Amino acid sequence: MFDIIIIGAGPAGMSAAIYARRAKKSVLVIEALSYGGQIVNTLDIENYPAEAHISGYDLATKMYNQAKELGAEFIFEKAFEITNNKDYKEVRTNNNKYQGKSIIIATGAKNRHLGLDHEDEYIGKGISYCATCDGNFYKKKDVAVIGGGNTALEDALYLSNIANKVYLIHRRDTFRASEKEIELVKNNSNIEILYNTEVIEFIGDNHLEKIKILKNEEEVEELEISGIFIAVGQTPSNEVFRGLIDINDNGYIIAGEDCHTNIEGIFVAGDNREKELRQLVTATSDGAIAATEAVKYLQNIK
Ligand code: NAP
Repeated sequence: MFDIIIIGAGPAGMSAAIYARRAKKSVLVIEALSYGGQIVNTLDIENYPAEAHISGYDLATKMYNQAKELGAEFIFEKAFEITNNKDYKEVRTNNNKYQGKSIIIATGAKNRHLGLDHEDEYIGKGISYCATCDGNFYKKKDVAVIGGGNTALEDALYLSNIANKVYLIHRRDTFRASEKEIELVKNNSNIEILYNTEVIEFIGDNHLEKIKILKNEEEVEELEISGIFIAVGQTPSNEVFRGLIDINDNGYIIAGEDCHTNIEGIFVAGDNREKELRQLVTATSDGAIAATEAVKYLQNIK
């Protein structure tokens, strides 16, 4: 039986492992694929304190090595279910069952993709899902933002200060973002809004050079751009916990800044928690809080 089982080896999970091991708790981290989570797709991270430039993979490897050196155990299996028993909790994976006194769910979220051909190939080569992470690579260039929610409009506003020109491409003629953002976008001379428009093709050689767009379901055009920021929503990886853990209408686990879920002894950390700002630094912060709260919980059940 482990003191703390952490599901997910992204920055939140690895930060939780570091904090839990420094508190001398036994820790098992269960990860479905490989450590690092979403940041491994980022070529250059510029907004993590003390690391002016570092690749997502290198930063994730540093976190992983730090957690391992402190004694956290890692296992690469997919978690399917948590059960909450009287004296312990259990995580069922594709291969095994693991018992823990407490659990931290740090399964993160995945950016929704447009689902077009070659989308994955251009990630980091013209396609990004994070304007605050990658915007600086497009100084004085023409870029496009896809989506009509708060994230897309905030991304367009953020990029309007960096890029030469921002096309905001939305599939309908009304936004679902808040009025304030809509007004700011409409009054920004650096943003051109293309309503009723969908991206239908990515064109380029090694790097994205153009996109093909469909306007009003009939006019096809090509748009020359250096980068495209896809902001069509996120899918938190929480579905397998539904039923036991309270999840909001958007799929995020309901928990405040203390990272407590509705079940005693089960905590949540990172992008799968409902929160305002989903960034690397807030994920690692959640990991520290969730581990500290788990340690307090373990002291109380003794
Ligand atoms: P969202 O509100 O779900 O908006 C996603 C947008 O992407 C929608 O405009 C949607 O179009 C569009 N879309 C979805 N699938 C698409 C596809 N396949 N092709 C083209 N367009 C597609 O997602 P979000 O903007 O990431 O926001 C998520 C939640 O976080 C929201 O509740 C939002 O209010 C909140 N949030 C808040 C803040 C803030 O308060 N500062 C900042 C960011 C996010 P349709 O409109 O046609 O469906």
